[in-house]
Parts: sequence; C-alpha cells; structure tokens
Amino acid sequence: MEAEKDVKITEPIPMVDLKQQYEKIKDEVDEAILNVVSSTRYIKGPEVTGFESELAEYLGSTHVIGCANGTDALQIALMALGLKPGDEVIVPSFTFVATAEVIGLLGLTPVMVDVDLATFNITGQLVEEAITDKTKAIVPVHLYGQAAPMEEIMEVANRYNLPVVEDNAQAIGSDYTFRSGKVKKSGSIGHIGCTSFFPSKNLGCYGDGGAIFTDDDDLAAKIAMVANHGQSRQYYHDRLGVNSRLDAIQAAILRIKLRKLDHYCQARKSAADYYDQRLGKTIQIELPYRADYSSHVFHQYTLKVPANDRDQLREHLQNKGIPSMIYYPVPLYKQKAFAPYWPQGKVLPHTETLCQTVISLPMHTELTEDVQNYICNNVINYFS
Ligand SMILES: *Cc1c(COP(=O)(O)O)cnc(C)c1O
Repeated sequence: MEAEKDVKITEPIPMVDLKQQYEKIKDEVDEAILNVVSSTRYIKGPEVTGFESELAEYLGSTHVIGCANGTDALQIALMALGLKPGDEVIVPSFTFVATAEVIGLLGLTPVMVDVDLATFNITGQLVEEAITDKTKAIVPVHLYGQAAPMEEIMEVANRYNLPVVEDNAQAIGSDYTFRSGKVKKSGSIGHIGCTSFFPSKNLGCYGDGGAIFTDDDDLAAKIAMVANHGQSRQYYHDRLGVNSRLDAIQAAILRIKLRKLDHYCQARKSAADYYDQRLGKTIQIELPYRADYSSHVFHQYTLKVPANDRDQLREHLQNKGIPSMIYYPVPLYKQKAFAPYWPQGKVLPHTETLCQTVISLPMHTELTEDVQNYICNNVINYFS
C-alpha cells in the first residue's frame, strides 16, 4: 500500500552507525588524539578543562564537571546533595537501570513512579503523588531524547523544597521552552544535570565519559570534590568521594563532536520526520509523541505497537536484516535488584503497557533514505 520501491541494501543495517560518523571527522579526531598522546597531559589538563567550559557555554550552565561515565555522574550528584541513608529519591520506573541503581547503592531508597503513556516521562502530578516526609530529591529522566515536563516538575520541587537532578543522558542538545517563552537546554533546568558520553549517546565519545552540570557555585564545588576523592586541596580529604575523571583523549574527541552536536541532532530529527511520514498512516502504529515544550533529539525512535504483534514484528524485521531494540523490556520494580524497594505484586499500569508495546528502530546520524525506505516498507508490510 505505502510501499515505495526498494533500493537494494548491500550493507548490514546497524542500530547505530558510529563508523560512518567517524569517517567524516577522522582527520580532525585522529590529530586531536595524537596531540593528547604527545602532550602527555593524560589526566585533567587543557583538553578536559577546555571541553568543560565549551559544554558549559553550550548548555548555558555555569559549571560543568567531567567524570568517568553517566552512572558516576548521577552517583556523584546525589553524593554532593548530602543525602542520608533511608532518604527517598523519586525516579521513573521506566528508564535505564543506572538512574535508580545509584540511589540504592548510596543506601537511599528509590521511589519508582509511573510515567505518562504518551511522553514516556514522569509528570509533576505523578511526582507530587509520591512525595512523603522522607522524600529528599527527584531525578527526572529525559527519555529517548525529549525532556520531561520540567516546568511543572520544578514547580512541585520548589513547593516541597526538593533538589532536582536531571538525567539528561539521552537528551543532550534538546531545547526546553517555558510558558514565558524562555528557552533552556535540557539538563540545565534542575539543580544538577547529568549526562553520559557513552559512544551511542547523542554526544558520544570513543569509550566511557560523563559530565555533571550546575549553576550553583556551592554545589559545583562539592561535586568537583566528591569526584576527586573528597579532596578540598591536594591530600586534604574533607569527605568521602570517588575517583571519577573524564579522560583527556575522550575530552579531545568530545570538543570536536560538541561543535557538530546541533547538526547531529538535526540529522536524527530529519530521520525521525521521515519515519513519521512513512509510518503514520498504519493504524496499528503509534508514532513518538512530540511535546510542544521540548524539542526532540531522538536518541531513540520508539514506536508503540500492539503487544501481541511486537515480538513477531521484531522477528519479521530481523529476517529482513533490520535490527530493532526494546528499551526497556522489564519495569525497574520487577528487576530482582529492586525487589527490596517494592511491595510484591504491585504494578504501575503505564510502565507495564510500555514494556510490552515499545519498539525502537535504527536511529543515528548517518541514516540514508534508501535504508529508511527499506525499513519502513518492511514495517508496513508486516501490518498489511
Ligand atoms: C546511558 C544512560 C545512563 C548511564 O550512562 P553510562 O555512561 O553508561 O554510565 C544513565 N541514564 C540513562 C537514561 C542512560 O540512557
């Protein structure tokens, strides 16, 4: 019905194509890596501080502190807030495990809340319903590349005087528009923002990396201290910290890729527009929702399909050489690791539905129309 003629696809289709992205910036990146190697400034040094200030400028945040990965970023942020064992931290039930894992690791209690069916994100109301006397922080996640409704979440947080740590690992580069018309970058709205530079993220390095951002000078000092063994000055340790550094080689790569981030986000958005346009007429498919308050940078392009079709659709695509992924197949509260934090048998209805209906298609900066056409034809012909 909607099928357009297939062009023969000769290369395997990846979920994420980092190889072709690298080829386009190879000369610049290779030179930057070799410069770090010959400089011997492997730890901290000018590449790291240079990247931190360029990212701060991009985000409109006063401080950016690099660290070893996105999971550490979340952990360090919570440590800097000085939370105590038993304190409750509100977190979505539908997210990557890291967001809730660090809460448990610090002896805090993750309070998992349901998400909105359309946006996949928590809302001000869902957060407010979960607040108790023990609540000490809120960690919204900007899932798949679109920000949670931060304006209403901040209103709730301010009313209860709670710090907000944004998990921006999937949404770096997205713009948030407030009712007043003011625009801010996701991750720069809460008290602290965290991100990951895992290779497949929208701003990815060639290994592990992460960063923490804040406008608060006092919090920034604590974050830097926690990330560096709780050190106030060399060999004076005021608190327990961790050793979590952004590698200088990764920082050098990130400086190059940061300059292309808006272009990368645009390439993802164009690919999403193409998918939307081709798949929107198939009634069994629900396209990704686009909120008016947040631009979508499409870390993932995630459809909802009927639960009893989902696994067969995946198999059908697999047989045609088209990869797909389920982010995420199991609600966090059903993971064994989180059993201690959850009343047995309790479920959150939207999270349950999403775990059974979501499917993510290949999404990256190098998708071609020929490949997308082939993917769409095969999605459509499964349902026809
Ligand atoms: C990737 C990711 C993280 C963790 O980042 P790492 O660098 O892999 O530690 C945390 N939260 C979310 C939502 C993520 O997607």
